[in-house]
Amino acid sequence: MNVSELARILKVTPKELLSTLPEIGFDIGAKAIKIDSRTAQTILRDWKKLTRQLEPQKETINKESTASKLTETSKIISIPSYVSVKEFASSLNLPVSKVLPELMKNGIFASINEKIDFDTASIIASDLGIRVELNKQAEDTLSDTASEKLKNIITNESEEKKAISRPPVIVVMGHVDHGKTSLLDAIRKTDVIEGEAGGITQHIGAYQVKRKNQFITFIDTPGHEAFTAMRSRGARVADIAILVVAADDGVKPQTIESFNMIKSAKIPFIVAINKIDKDGADINKTKQELSTILNITPEDWGGKTICAPISAKKNQGVEDLLDMVLLTAEIEDKNIKANPGTTAIGTIIESHIDKGEGPVATILIQNGTLNIGNELCFNNIYYGKAKALKNHHGENIKNATPSTPAKIIGLKIAPRVGDIMEVGIGQKMKFKKIQTNSKKTQTSQTQNEPEDENIVKLNIVLKTDVLGSGEAIEESLEKLNSKKAKIKIISRGLGNITEGDVAKAESAKAILLGFNVKLSPSIEELARTKNVETKLFHIIYDLIDYAQKELKELVEPEYKRVEIGKLKVLAIFRTENNAQIVGGKVIHGQAEANSKIEVLRNKEIISSGEMINLQSGKQDVKNVEIDKECGLKYQGKPIIEVGDILNFHKLVKIIEEE
Ligand code: GDP
Repeated sequence: MNVSELARILKVTPKELLSTLPEIGFDIGAKAIKIDSRTAQTILRDWKKLTRQLEPQKETINKESTASKLTETSKIISIPSYVSVKEFASSLNLPVSKVLPELMKNGIFASINEKIDFDTASIIASDLGIRVELNKQAEDTLSDTASEKLKNIITNESEEKKAISRPPVIVVMGHVDHGKTSLLDAIRKTDVIEGEAGGITQHIGAYQVKRKNQFITFIDTPGHEAFTAMRSRGARVADIAILVVAADDGVKPQTIESFNMIKSAKIPFIVAINKIDKDGADINKTKQELSTILNITPEDWGGKTICAPISAKKNQGVEDLLDMVLLTAEIEDKNIKANPGTTAIGTIIESHIDKGEGPVATILIQNGTLNIGNELCFNNIYYGKAKALKNHHGENIKNATPSTPAKIIGLKIAPRVGDIMEVGIGQKMKFKKIQTNSKKTQTSQTQNEPEDENIVKLNIVLKTDVLGSGEAIEESLEKLNSKKAKIKIISRGLGNITEGDVAKAESAKAILLGFNVKLSPSIEELARTKNVETKLFHIIYDLIDYAQKELKELVEPEYKRVEIGKLKVLAIFRTENNAQIVGGKVIHGQAEANSKIEVLRNKEIISSGEMINLQSGKQDVKNVEIDKECGLKYQGKPIIEVGDILNFHKLVKIIEEE
C-alpha cells in the first residue's frame, strides 16, 4: 500500500505518518513510499491504540517547543484536502511566486489554478516552515453535497420511474499476482469488435465489452486503491465485483482485504478461481479456504456464491464468467438502472494532465447523458467544457450514456479520481478574453536561420506561468508546423506580460500569447495602441487550438480570377424572384457550367451572380463554344435584359491547402 494512501486513511500527512511509525515500533524508513500490505493492516488496526500511548509524551514535547514554533509560524493554517495553488498561497499568506518555485522543487509543475492535494500542500508548507491541518469540516460538507446529490438522484423516486436498465459496472479485485490484469485483458479479447480493431485499445480507466447483445463495463484499474479512492466520496461506482483468487495460491491477505471492501460496499460478487491451468492448481482447496477463511460457501457446495474456475492466461472459462456476470446483473436489475434522458452526473475514474491536451479525465456516467459541449462542475466549481469525448478505442464520441466511460478533453482543471462531476456551469472562473483587431503579418523575417521564402510564419511571443507549461506548449506548437507554415517562437518567458513583451511582439509582428499569466489593463491598452494581438489562456489545448487556427488562416488558399468567356443575351425566357433563365450567343471564349457571372450593360457591371445550369439544345452541358447559342439559368438579382453581356469567370485556388 502507498504511504500516502495509508496516511489518507489514518487522516495524517505522509510525513507525520513516517515520523510516527518508528516511534510506535514499526521499522519503516523516513523516505518509504510503499508499505507491505500485512504491515499496513497491522498499522491500520493498531494505529489509534499505539498513538494514544504517545500522546502524553508528545504533549510535553509540544509544550516545550510550541512557544518558539508558534512565534515562528504564528498559526497553523487549515486547508481542504484539495486546494488550488492560488488559494493555497493566499492561505499561507505568501505570494504565488513564492509557492510555485517550492512546488517545482518537488517536481510539481502546477499552474496557479491547478489543484494540489493536501499531502503535497502539507509537504510544501512544512518546507516553508508552516504547519497545515486538514480542514475536515469544509471537506466533508463539500464531498457530501456531491455524493448526496448523486445518491439522491440514484434513489429518487421520480428518477426511478424514468430509469431504464444500463450496463452493469464491474470491478476486478484480489491479491497481487493472482491475475486481475490478465483477466481484464482476457475479457477485453472476448469482444469480437475489439478483437477486430486489434490492439488499438487505449487505457482510459474503463472499457466496455458486448456479450449476448448486452454491454458490460469493466473498471480497468485492478486493485483496491482505485476502489477505495472511488468509494472515498461515498459513490457506488461498481455494481458487481469479481474477486480473483489464484488456484495455486489460495486466499491471501489482499484477498481478505478485497473481500472486506466488497462486503462494506454491499455489492454482489463472483469469485473467479484463476490459474486452473497451472500444475499446482487445486480448485477444491481454494474453495475450502474461501469457506473457512472468508465464510464464502460456493454454490456447488450448497452456498450462494458463484465460484467460476478460469484460466485468464489460456482464456478458459472467461466467457462463462461473463455469463455469470450477466446473470448476477439480471438478479440485481433494480439497482442497475439510470435515466439517460437528463443531464449527466458521474464519477471520475481516471485523471491526469497531458502535455498536449491539458487536463484529461475519464468519467463513468452514472445518470443522464453527457454531450460534447456540456460544462462540467464538481461541488459547484467550474472545471471546464467537454470539448471532445473519446471512448476506449480512442474514437471520438458525441455523447456518453449511463455506465459508459468517456475520456473528457477540454477541462481547465484536472479533477481527482473519485470526484463526482455533474453538468452545470458552477462558478465560472474569470476568464478574460482579450482580442484586438490587429493585423498579424508573419512573413519570413528572421535573423539566423536560412529561410524558405515560401513558408509563412506565425511569430509568437509566449509568456507562461512555469517552465513546465512553457515547454509543453512549445512542444505542442512544434507539431503544428507544416511545409507551408511554421510557428516561430521569437521570445519566451515566465511571468506576467510586460511592456517589453509588447515591444518584442510589435517589432517581430508577432502575436502575444499568455498561459496562466496576467495582462494588466495598462499593458493591454499599450498592446492595442501598438496593434499587437494579445490573448490569454488557462488551458494548453485552447492555446494550441488557437495557434492552429491562426496558422491555418495564414495559409488560407488564395484565389485567382480566371476569365472564361462572354455571352450576348438574346432572349429572357423566365424571370423568378432571384433567378432568370436567359438565352444568348457566346461571343468570346466559352460558356462554362457553374461559372460566376457579371452582368454588363454599356460596358459597366450592373450586377453579379452565378450560373446554376447550362443547356444547349435542351440538354444540360458543361460548356458551350464560341459562336454557339445556349440557354442558362442565372442566380442573382433578376435584372438581365436583352442586349446585356454576361461575363463568365471562375475563382481558382492558387495555394492548395495541405
Ligand atoms: P495481478 O497482479 O493480479 O494483476 O496479476 P497479473 O494479471 O499481472 O498476473 C500475474 C502473473 O500470473 C503473470 O505472470 C501472469 O502471466 C500470470 N497469470 C495470470 N493468469 C494466469 C493463468 O490463468 N494461468 C497461468 N498459468 N498464469 C497466469
